Amino acid sequence: MTEEQLAFDIEAMLHESAVEAAPEWSGAPLAFTTAYWTPPNLEAAHEHWQFLHKLDQSRTQSRMWHRAIAVPGRVAVGDHGFDLFTADLRCEPWTHGEAHGGCQCVGDLIYQAICEPDGWHVIASDENSAVEGWHDHAFPGWRELPIVPARLRSVDQPGLSKAAKKWIAEHYPPPMQVIGAPVITERSSGGTRHVPGRSPWAGYDIAHTAVERDRRISQRRSNAVPREPTRPPTTSLGPALGA
Ligand SMILES: [Zn+2]
Ligand SMILES: [Zn+2]
Repeated sequence: MTEEQLAFDIEAMLHESAVEAAPEWSGAPLAFTTAYWTPPNLEAAHEHWQFLHKLDQSRTQSRMWHRAIAVPGRVAVGDHGFDLFTADLRCEPWTHGEAHGGCQCVGDLIYQAICEPDGWHVIASDENSAVEGWHDHAFPGWRELPIVPARLRSVDQPGLSKAAKKWIAEHYPPPMQVIGAPVITERSSGGTRHVPGRSPWAGYDIAHTAVERDRRISQRRSNAVPREPTRPPTTSLGPALGA
């Protein structure tokens, strides 16, 4: 027996007794769930699953909710809270020996936005839709905000340019210029992700595609005042998996 093997066996024995000594789990389910659980409950369940399967090489994927990379912790917005979780329901063909299509896998990364003070959550099939759903909850009316024209974007710095901030201060309704409030910016087709923390009030910079899916940026550089945007009827969330 090699020293490495011995070390591993001892670790496995210690882990086994730690698992046996742990009190019976009574928190959130140790599997995917569409039920409402608070962010601390979801985190505790995910941690417990990782503890139970620490040495299990065959199960590295829990399919459980965990925090999305874009939003590493709770953001307080007025009386609301914003937490963003993700669950990996992507197809794992090696677990069932047939190509995705013949299997029952949901086949996607899905997202959940939570407002803990209100016990509210939304589950959506993509990150943008979850973020939009949360804004419907915390900032009703946000879909009517003016779209910041792309021509005000700064070429050499990320985020909002001075000109864009000035435009926003002049065009956005004062009640929507509050901590955590979003802005909507016109984007090119390659950059339609909603970006947290980039509004002048540390709220989301939401891509215009959330409210005007078919709008195309005109190639012509123009300093003319943009036409008032026309809006299609409010779009609903992507296929919700539960609420
Ligand atoms: Zn809320
Ligand atoms: Zn599958």
